[in-house]
Amino acid sequence: MARNPDDRRRLFRRISLLVACIVAGLVLIAYLASPEQEETEIAVRYDLTLDGKSWSTAIDEGNIRVELGQDAAKLLTLYSTGSGNFVSELDLAGSNPSVSNQFGNLLWPQCTRIATEIFIDEDIPATTRAQMRDATIVVFLWLKELTGLDIVVTKGSSERGQESSTAAHRISTPDDNTIAIHWVDKTNTVMSPKELAVATMWATLKRGQQIPRSTRIRLSSTVFDTMPDDAIERLSRKMAIAHELSHAFGIGHSNDPDSYMYPMLTPSASITPADRAALALAGSRAC
Ligand SMILES: [Zn+2]
Repeated sequence: MARNPDDRRRLFRRISLLVACIVAGLVLIAYLASPEQEETEIAVRYDLTLDGKSWSTAIDEGNIRVELGQDAAKLLTLYSTGSGNFVSELDLAGSNPSVSNQFGNLLWPQCTRIATEIFIDEDIPATTRAQMRDATIVVFLWLKELTGLDIVVTKGSSERGQESSTAAHRISTPDDNTIAIHWVDKTNTVMSPKELAVATMWATLKRGQQIPRSTRIRLSSTVFDTMPDDAIERLSRKMAIAHELSHAFGIGHSNDPDSYMYPMLTPSASITPADRAALALAGSRAC
């Protein structure tokens, strides 16, 4: 078949284009099939029967550096690396991580800014709504201090900026890197009468590591009706909120009845040195 030079050039261009398309296709297939790109969405719902397994996987992930108060430091075995202390062993006296599975513990990386949103059911009286908002903010600030994580309240932080917890909100998945708190009236059927709090957590599995993505927490107004308005360190509404919010930061239940993370808050509940150590550890995940 005779071809003039123009035909040949056209044919060459077509073949080149075809080869380029095949190469691009193969690259795309390789990219999509690569294990590094595998992402699986996992949803973990935990409640008051939650019981994690071990903190040791968090340490195995490496790069865990913590600064602790004297009491808390006694619970850990540390060795100095020159750029901080590396935790080699720990006895957190009853504390457990909230999620511990083959992918390690579910902890927020230090460089993630965690947006927190407060939604309150309009069926709750205005005075109580204001108290709920203030108590929740106090607990967030306290957790920010003890974990060292970058936590900011972005919604519902003032009376003018208050946000209602609607039926649609309560079942929605929060945006990425967001913790959404819903205060729900105790008569609302979204919570069973015995349920004080329910937390649902979403995570992304990336390169064999699970990273928190968002958390939704529903708190019943019963917490406010049955507990005293006192400091975080004593049995109080704030302590109950701290218990539930600590789940969102990777802290599970404690086996120690005197811990604020024991499944049932008792009159002797306090924030134990082990709890402080666990909070510091929970905020020590490298980026
Ligand atoms: Zn709990």
